[in-house]
Amino acid sequence: MSKLSIRDLPLDGHRIFTRVDFNVPLDNGLVMDDTRIRETLPTIEYALRRGSRLILASHLGRPKGKPNPKMSLKPVAERLRMLLDKELRRGENVGFCPDCVGAEAEEMSGKLEKGQTLLLENLRFHAEEEANDEKFSLQLAKLADYYVNDAFGAAHRAHASTVGITRFVQKSAAGLLMEKELEYLGRALHNPERPFIAILGGAKVSDKIGVIQNLMDKVDGLIIGGGMAYTFLKAMNEAVGKSLVEENQLDLACKILQDTKTRKLNFLLPVDHILADKIDANAVVRIVSPGQPIPDNMMALDIGPKTIEAFTEEISRARTIVWNGPMGVFEVAPFAKGTFKIAEAVAENVAAISIVGGGDSVAAVRAAGVADKITHISTGGGASLEFLEGKKLPGVEALTEKA
Ligand code: AMP
Repeated sequence: MSKLSIRDLPLDGHRIFTRVDFNVPLDNGLVMDDTRIRETLPTIEYALRRGSRLILASHLGRPKGKPNPKMSLKPVAERLRMLLDKELRRGENVGFCPDCVGAEAEEMSGKLEKGQTLLLENLRFHAEEEANDEKFSLQLAKLADYYVNDAFGAAHRAHASTVGITRFVQKSAAGLLMEKELEYLGRALHNPERPFIAILGGAKVSDKIGVIQNLMDKVDGLIIGGGMAYTFLKAMNEAVGKSLVEENQLDLACKILQDTKTRKLNFLLPVDHILADKIDANAVVRIVSPGQPIPDNMMALDIGPKTIEAFTEEISRARTIVWNGPMGVFEVAPFAKGTFKIAEAVAENVAAISIVGGGDSVAAVRAAGVADKITHISTGGGASLEFLEGKKLPGVEALTEKA
């Protein structure tokens, strides 16, 4: 990586402002899932063990620029205390500041001692955060000497805490989680072990068109499942019934199909389907075999058994696998099998480097109980997609270049 890492910063005794992604689900003031907090622990512990005075900042939810007690990070501070207590016996050293900027934040961060942590209140309680406001960025920067970004999930946004602040601190570096994300995704894009395949699913072609176009030159195989497959199948003049089709993407789908042929790319679409007349757990479900049309009054909501077989075979041959997006409406039981089977197939290929991103596919590998067999589970859905599109992430670009 060409950017500074937290390992390159002089941490001892210094105030380190670390942007983390503590955007966790809360229910009645309780943290329902602390995965995101736990994933940041290596960076937090690394900094504390080396004598940093650590200031943590995050967004949570969409409070639209105004304080909202339901989206307070206070419960996160409590959970962080518990987690740090277990690991480092440092729990009692986690303070919480009810605002992320201003006199109190400056006083509390100024009083921090080595090895102590201060979690700031939700950055998005100020509209200036998302506006990447200069004055607000300066106020954040006043709290620290150095800046670390460990919030990969927010790196595709140019906000005050991801970009603006970097102009006003001495140096800006990637945290350990950020580094890991960039390393895995970067290696897949630039130096993958081959065969390299991408599995893309989810609702819309339009959301993933940039990824398809960028990956087309890099992968050996492209597997398309989920709702987005039906725009391609319709573009090939197949009968798709009431399945999800983006009419305004049909021309582009035709062009992509042509390009895959020119490039001799192994391009796999579903060949059989699980159908229903509505998205409902009690709907009457039917399988349509390869070569049979999808009836006008039915929609395809999952991939069928022959497709699972074909996709699994392609997956088993790969040495690098990137997966983003479910193969069907996996939230509804009768249409979940395809996504779970693909999760298992990816996990079973232990010879491959597997990278799974996007909320739904990550949820699927966890629900299938195979998360521990995936090489890298990305913490940033939107950010990982933009990375795969070949876009530069503003939160990464803003970090200091290695000398
Ligand atoms: P995305 O956010 O684009 O990754 O899309 C995820 C959503 O796509 C999930 O909520 C799925 O229910 C939905 N989805 C997947 N397959 C289909 C399908 N065949 N028809 C309709 N929706 C689908």
